[in-house]
Amino acid sequence: PLSLLKDPSLLKTDGLINGQWVAGSSRFAVHDPATGQRLADVANLGPQETEAAIAAANAAWPAWRAKTVKERSAILRKWYDLLMANQDVLARLMTAEQGKPLPEAQGEVAYGASFVEWFAEQAKRIDGETLPTFDNNKRLLVLQQPIGVCAAITPWNFPLAMITRKVAPALAAGCPVVIKPAELTPLTALAAAELAQRAGMPPGVLNVVTADSAQSVAVGKALCASDVVRHLSFTGSTEVGRILMAQCAPTVKKLSLELGGNAPFIVFDDADIDSAVEGAFASKYRNAGQTCVCSNRFYVQAGVYEEFVARFAAKVRTAKVGNGFEPGVNQGPLIEEAALDKVQRHLDDAVAKGGRVVAGGQRLSGLGSGQFFEPTVVADATPAMLCAREETFGPFAPIFRFETEQEAVDAANATEFGLASYFYSRDIGRIFRVGEALEYGMVGVNTGIISTEHVPFGGVKQSGLGREGSHHGITEYLETKYLCVGDI
Ligand code: ADP
Repeated sequence: PLSLLKDPSLLKTDGLINGQWVAGSSRFAVHDPATGQRLADVANLGPQETEAAIAAANAAWPAWRAKTVKERSAILRKWYDLLMANQDVLARLMTAEQGKPLPEAQGEVAYGASFVEWFAEQAKRIDGETLPTFDNNKRLLVLQQPIGVCAAITPWNFPLAMITRKVAPALAAGCPVVIKPAELTPLTALAAAELAQRAGMPPGVLNVVTADSAQSVAVGKALCASDVVRHLSFTGSTEVGRILMAQCAPTVKKLSLELGGNAPFIVFDDADIDSAVEGAFASKYRNAGQTCVCSNRFYVQAGVYEEFVARFAAKVRTAKVGNGFEPGVNQGPLIEEAALDKVQRHLDDAVAKGGRVVAGGQRLSGLGSGQFFEPTVVADATPAMLCAREETFGPFAPIFRFETEQEAVDAANATEFGLASYFYSRDIGRIFRVGEALEYGMVGVNTGIISTEHVPFGGVKQSGLGREGSHHGITEYLETKYLCVGDI
């Protein structure tokens, strides 16, 4: 698929440190999850290159923070323009290495780029404060200053957007960054870095350290241990998030963590069922179920249970599974074998505990050597099933039955996670009651799609720390300083 790239100069396979492409001494392979085909061999960098990237970022910091906000904003804006001008090439790289259908990949490029556009604008709105004084000989001010060198460790499910959501606010705030992209999807990250170079990003301001899974652990350790790195932003599993948090304790690093979810999707008796079916489909099967805000557990009230199950299953059966480059495909492959195994495990467990398969249920072995799984719906789910507690991160939808509003809210909140949640109701009182009662960072009411660049994205409980996007997103990269000026 990469031979079809309109601009082969965006196929970068080396890391980027201090404005130089770095080949390293070994390489690791990147594969197409739809075909198993080897796409490229990428630089496998380690702690030594990580130290070099941190040093380059630190050296670049004074000049970057000294630029006027308008100057930084202009570079970010140019980067945004280049990302959008190369939307097709970036989307093809993404579909090739990640598997999502090409229209979804094009959508992610626009979504990913939108963070760069937004934070180019927000750069100009990093306002300080003047406070009333406690002494007429003194003046009190509050400054917002860039925190320093920032590190970003990102996952494979959104190969561009999870990078721009962290890097754009850091850069806008005046911080240089070191990015460790996911080992499964480094090509999109490197193409975006090349476009940042073309936009005039000074050497050392944006660095990319690529590494395979073993070296990623070592790179992560180096980033966490460094006392030059003042902030770490991570999106990925809660398990790895806990490790990174512990590793950052000795240097008391500021952390932004966007971890796992276990999103409930509740359909009340008074819901618009057509709309709920559409929302359920969009929220569950986007990116083959591999997003942290994908619905993981469906709770449907008894009065509409059978109707919802039948209509949702019918909708799911119309979905086309295949190579993301094929027109009309709704769902591509899963990212790796282990992802398929987890779907199979959750399905087998649900069936063993009385679950009723009403759509899908099979691994699709007829589609080349790729990792395809039918979009699957299982009715009569119970709290004893694994899928009630664990995030499946795949195209599997268990549907639980409930009687009362309180029962639904209690079940939805019975998890250590608290990222996204969804519910459908047309009762305005219930919308407020349930919206306020759900212990989640984000609640979609009568919609399954909630993400955009100008809203605060993030979780509560063990789903993470901090918010990305919106005017809140940039505060993660700023330190508040109180200035007390005497002898006036
Ligand atoms: P996912 O479940 O999305 O695969 P992971 O949490 O395993 O998420 O990985 C997300 C990112 O974290 C990737 O860039 C991966 O290389 C990196 N990573 C995984 N384990 C570690 C670790 N121990 N230290 C640092 N980075 C890690």
